[in-house]
Amino acid sequence: MITLDGKNTSKDIKEELEVEVSQLLANGGKRPHLAAILVGNDGASETYIGAKVKACDKVGFESTLIRFESDVTVEELLAEIERVNENTDIDGLIVQLPLPKHIDEMKVTEAINPIKDVDGFHPTNIGRMALNLPTYLPATPAGILELLERHEVETSGKHCVVIGRSHIVGSPMSILMARNNYPGNCTVTLTHSRTINLKEITKTADILIVALGKAEFVTSDMIKDGVCIIDVGITRVKSDKTKSGWKLLGDVAFEKVKDKCSFITPVPGGVGPMTIAMLLKNTLISAKSKLGS
Ligand code: NAP
Repeated sequence: MITLDGKNTSKDIKEELEVEVSQLLANGGKRPHLAAILVGNDGASETYIGAKVKACDKVGFESTLIRFESDVTVEELLAEIERVNENTDIDGLIVQLPLPKHIDEMKVTEAINPIKDVDGFHPTNIGRMALNLPTYLPATPAGILELLERHEVETSGKHCVVIGRSHIVGSPMSILMARNNYPGNCTVTLTHSRTINLKEITKTADILIVALGKAEFVTSDMIKDGVCIIDVGITRVKSDKTKSGWKLLGDVAFEKVKDKCSFITPVPGGVGPMTIAMLLKNTLISAKSKLGS
């Protein structure tokens, strides 16, 4: 079994990005600049945003964190997005999800200028992805592709089963694994909560991508020998064994399945760090496009 180590792979990518930023500056470009909007003070969102800001620092990007109280109106939020859209110094804009219930997430996503949509969630960018045109790929699926590629996992002709059909992970992942590319060229089955006989399907997977948000859902009896498992799930559970009092669990019962796998991502340290690295990569692409390079 080979661990698809997102922690170290993302470290490599960040080092590569650091070098690219130095070259960009040496060629007369400006420092890439990522803006992030955070609404409210949900603990998990604070952690994710904090990690993104820290990662910007690490690779030499500028970052701006824009905070709003949870009772912000849609109009106030859209007005801020418009300001960032028009600010030529800012290359990328992300809005940390989830947003409070009174805010329509799609309306907010659609308000972001697609050329600054480094999360890759805008309908224009999703459409370009589906057509295999150059675009910002959604960060988590892009991170998974990068992990597969850097570990030279064979994908052509394989049966890839995806559990979960969210707009940010499962659905784009199914499109990307089916496209005529590497990684890709899989025969893909996209499953969800209405899927009948899920276990019969997952047992035929050569590559199993799990993104449903239920801790340790995938167990040893659901997979075949030699499967490559990508575990996207992150569930925070109480723990008396950690200093923080919390630990993170994936959607896969790692210890119980690992010996049957050819490759597997751990949680934490698998897909999570790759997501941040790909967000930075998209921001650099945006910054470079202004130089016409
Ligand atoms: P989501 O919006 O929470 O949706 C969950 C999906 O799983 C839905 O499509 C749902 O089906 C499906 N599902 C639920 N129960 C199921 C079952 N018993 N059998 C089969 N499918 C089932 O998905 P998400 O936003 O992609 O999040 C999934 C997990 O990934 C969460 O733990 C999240 O925290 C994590 N995540 C991690 C990263 C990262 O960087 N590592 C990034 C994003 C998300 P229906 O559509 O039928 O309801």
